[in-house]
Amino acid sequence: MDYRELLESTVDRAIEFLSGLNRRHVGARASVEELRTLLKEGLPEDGKDPLKVLEELSYRVERGLVASAGPRYFGFVTGGVVPASLGADILTSVWDQNGMFSASSPAAGVVEEVVSSWILDLLDLPRETSVGFVTGCQMANFTCLAAARHEVLRKAGWNVEERGLFGAPKISVLVGEEAHATVFTALRMLGMGTSDIRIIPSDSQGRIIPSEVDSAFQESRGPSILCIQAGNVNTGAFDPSHLLIPIAREHGAWVHLDGAFGIWGRLLPPLAGETMDMELADSWATDAHKWLNVPYDSGIAMVRNEAAHRASMVLRGPYYIAAGDEIRDPSHWVPESSRRARGFALYGCISSLGRKGLKEIVENNCRQARLMADLLEEDPGIEVLNEVVLNQVLVRFLPNNSTDVDSFTRKVTRMIQEEGTCWAGGSCWKGMAVMRISVSNWSTTDEDITISAQAIRRVLSRSIQL
Ligand SMILES: *Cc1c(COP(=O)(O)O)cnc(C)c1O
Repeated sequence: MDYRELLESTVDRAIEFLSGLNRRHVGARASVEELRTLLKEGLPEDGKDPLKVLEELSYRVERGLVASAGPRYFGFVTGGVVPASLGADILTSVWDQNGMFSASSPAAGVVEEVVSSWILDLLDLPRETSVGFVTGCQMANFTCLAAARHEVLRKAGWNVEERGLFGAPKISVLVGEEAHATVFTALRMLGMGTSDIRIIPSDSQGRIIPSEVDSAFQESRGPSILCIQAGNVNTGAFDPSHLLIPIAREHGAWVHLDGAFGIWGRLLPPLAGETMDMELADSWATDAHKWLNVPYDSGIAMVRNEAAHRASMVLRGPYYIAAGDEIRDPSHWVPESSRRARGFALYGCISSLGRKGLKEIVENNCRQARLMADLLEEDPGIEVLNEVVLNQVLVRFLPNNSTDVDSFTRKVTRMIQEEGTCWAGGSCWKGMAVMRISVSNWSTTDEDITISAQAIRRVLSRSIQL
């Protein structure tokens, strides 16, 4: 195999894509039907030249790709990819290390150790916290809540890893009504069914109401877990950790914090009021592929109680060569065994940006969200629904006739996506259809915000005339 030819052609394609990222129609241009026509074929009996395969693949998927790595993609709170992280991620594939054990890749293991301590330092969380590198915040929530389940049952005299949940003391799980869907999935996978979860009401911004938590605890007995969040997926709002954690402590509950993107607000002094006392929680889940702008798939599970974390995840088998207590085996902190060595891309990101660079991204994106809200609010046909405290802006489009606001908002959102200058997704907030703008890309400039706000207003005025 001539790697030079293959990789040079790959690099050419990469450069072509990246240099056009800023000019691309942001949403996909091909429908799923068109893509099926282009891509569907029977299983090939005979193989093909790799160069040919890459050429065909690139050509066939091209119109179905989304410029989600680009500066005017405002969907799903996703980030792009910072350059050093991109390079490190490509090398991760080249090196093809199994990030399972220290024995399978000492380098992958030690890089995870280094990155762990950097992350705890950046977020100012207890330094004894153990860290696992997972696919995303879904699995980070799962991992943290598995540790929670272990510990609250251990304190009730029950070893859940050994005895399972049948016959175990019942765990009271308190979750804010605005918790992310993945918290519920995680609980479900851990045997804590949705009907057993106590849903706590939240306020107009989606923040848990502390007095409601207090009364829910009054009614529950025994082992308990409280799930709070930093960064509501719609409004960006923070549950008040400094009020909620002391209440949970009084009742001996484990506090888990889902901070997929919002926890990075800890980097900004002006947000100190929102992020105060988060370090007092027991576990924290976050994403690296959102605000840290590391390629998918990268999530981080952090647990203060190392023993509980390890007990719930540890991987043992006579055929595995574990490193022992002195060396950290990556697989003891996550649900997976063999996996991608995720630490390298994180190392690339944090090492190239430093605390200052990361802070700058978060700071810029928050300012840009504010700018977006201001520019859109100048238009009487646009209503901003949330207090823009972080990087999220929620808007509704107001028709100038009797059209229903929900269907008009959905229609305008679709037209904005089709117009292609930017992309923002539809969402639902307090029963209303809304368009959600998430600013979380390292490369977004203020000009991107201006251009996008203009495009949104242009599409709106066109759809009013229609
Ligand atoms: C995105 C998000 C998740 C899920 O993260 P994935 O990376 O999609 O697994 C969980 N919680 C919150 C608050 C989120 O924004």
